[in-house]
Amino acid sequence: MNKLTPFKNLVEAFGALPGIGDKSALKLAYYIVTSGSYDGIKLSHAIESAIEAISRCSICNNLSEDELCHICSDEFRDKNKICLVESAKDVITIEKLGQYDGLYYVLSDIDSFDLVHLRGALASIKEIIFAFAPSIASDTMMLYIESQLEDLNLKFTKIAQGVPTGISLDSVDTLSLARAIEDRVNI
Ligand SMILES: [Zn+2]
Repeated sequence: MNKLTPFKNLVEAFGALPGIGDKSALKLAYYIVTSGSYDGIKLSHAIESAIEAISRCSICNNLSEDELCHICSDEFRDKNKICLVESAKDVITIEKLGQYDGLYYVLSDIDSFDLVHLRGALASIKEIIFAFAPSIASDTMMLYIESQLEDLNLKFTKIAQGVPTGISLDSVDTLSLARAIEDRVNI
């Protein structure tokens, strides 16, 4: 007879999350079942309602509760520039800097993104800023996108060096990232 199956399931569920190793999974599950019911129930409700409420903006793929995200529907954003990012997490990271006032486009699936959909987000755009974490794959992607959008006569820039290779943008310290966006270079 397998004892404590619900507890083991909880450890397993935590362990399946990104960034949570076996030890942390055990620690979290132990906390949830021993700390009284409130924190656990609150967590489970928060997870459920977030999954139900959050989807993707139909224009830019950013996380959104509505058809359009708060950035696409903000009339005060600069609609001449758009920042291409690899993940909606990067939008949150860059927004936290409070410095960039243009639009975003999230390439949620970098291997098979929809070029027609991307073009749809470029109606008023004059500058495309690539804010990818540096890697050979992202360099290839930038060149590919640039070549596919050649006919639109856009200015293409990318965030400056100083962002280390091989790590995601949310791991870069805010000052370096702010400077990298400010000092973006033509490509
Ligand atoms: Zn949007």
